[in-house]
Amino acid sequence: MAEDKFVIIGSGPAGLSAALTLRQSLADAAVTVITKDVSPPYRPHLLPKIISGEVEEKDIYPCSSNFWNEHRIFLRRAQEVKTIDFDKNFLLLEHRETLKFDGLIIAVGGTPRVPERLGSFRQILWTLKTFKDAKSWRQYVAKVESVLIIGGDLTSLAVTRALLSLGKQVTFAITREALWPLRYDADVVEELSRRLQVRGARTIFFDNFKGISRRPEGDYEVTVSGETLRVGMIGAFFGLVPDVAFLTRSGLTIDRGILVDEYLNTGLENVYAAGDCAQIYHPQIKDYWVSIGFDNAVALGRIAALNLVGCSVKAETSAESIFDRDDVNVNTSWWLSF
Ligand SMILES: Cc1cc2nc3c(=O)[nH]c(=O)nc-3n(C[C@H](O)[C@H](O)[C@H](O)COP(=O)(O)OP(=O)(O)OC[C@H]3O[C@@H](n4cnc5c(N)ncnc54)[C@H](O)[C@@H]3O)c2cc1C
Repeated sequence: MAEDKFVIIGSGPAGLSAALTLRQSLADAAVTVITKDVSPPYRPHLLPKIISGEVEEKDIYPCSSNFWNEHRIFLRRAQEVKTIDFDKNFLLLEHRETLKFDGLIIAVGGTPRVPERLGSFRQILWTLKTFKDAKSWRQYVAKVESVLIIGGDLTSLAVTRALLSLGKQVTFAITREALWPLRYDADVVEELSRRLQVRGARTIFFDNFKGISRRPEGDYEVTVSGETLRVGMIGAFFGLVPDVAFLTRSGLTIDRGILVDEYLNTGLENVYAAGDCAQIYHPQIKDYWVSIGFDNAVALGRIAALNLVGCSVKAETSAESIFDRDDVNVNTSWWLSF
């Protein structure tokens, strides 16, 4: 076991936590973390503050530059895993290199969801997931006066706060499907709208959407909720969905995310999934459930690593929440600070 090659796909909170746990558990094992991100691991919740300029790039990195050497974890950046061969236990990277593994933790996180009815406008809608996205937001937003935010997920509130702090005019088109598959009930929508207005945003409902067109001046005309808006930029915030499209034909069982048991095992020996990409059986709702959030990802990364090295630790659902579905709480409490 000590000489095994452990590979973790993803350098987000789940991947990082898994890598550290592996190192702490097996001093001599080879631990490699692969990420398609160009930047070193960063704190995602600080990205809206990169947009507002409240924090600088150096503040978003949780690991010092010598962290990787100190812990003897090999970090491969800007390397995308294209497929995994589970018969021969190797990964195929985008640049055609193959990489063998004895144990694998998949921690590929989520990607911004854009609902079907907005799909044809995908190229002009701004989302926020990576540090690169945040830098692009920061540059582009400096050129516009007004922004339309469509959605209502957790990130949209932090981004709206950032935009308002920069003096931008924000129209917020609230939709009940932002946290799909949950739906906001009327009380939550009212409370959300009240909080946004107190901060200085204008709120409308995202209904009766007729389309978006680009004007010769470079800004956009959006017809929604019975009115036509002119805005410089449009952000879409409908939550994250597991970023698992590349695994569709790999032999893993994929639904919304990678289906795993309570031990985060995928059904294949020595292959685990953790964080936002894992869909875990939830005994209370009797269904598989994707739980999004930083603390959850850290906890699941640790559990996957412990189980990979022979422990038997069950994943537990989080205690804090503001939403519930069928009396089951969903940990989304972090947006309450808006
Ligand atoms: C802007 C923003 C603000 C947020 N704020 C909060 C907050 O305040 N509180 C909170 O609890 N949560 C917050 N979240 C959610 C939280 O960041 C996520 O739940 C958490 O990052 C999930 O961790 P993860 O490790 O599962 O995945 P991620 O952090 O998404 O990391 C996934 C990793 O996998 C890599 N990857 C994906 N596919 C491949 C591939 N094919 N090959 C190689 N690498 C790949 C990515 O490059 C990345 O390194 C926020 C998210 C965002 C985007």
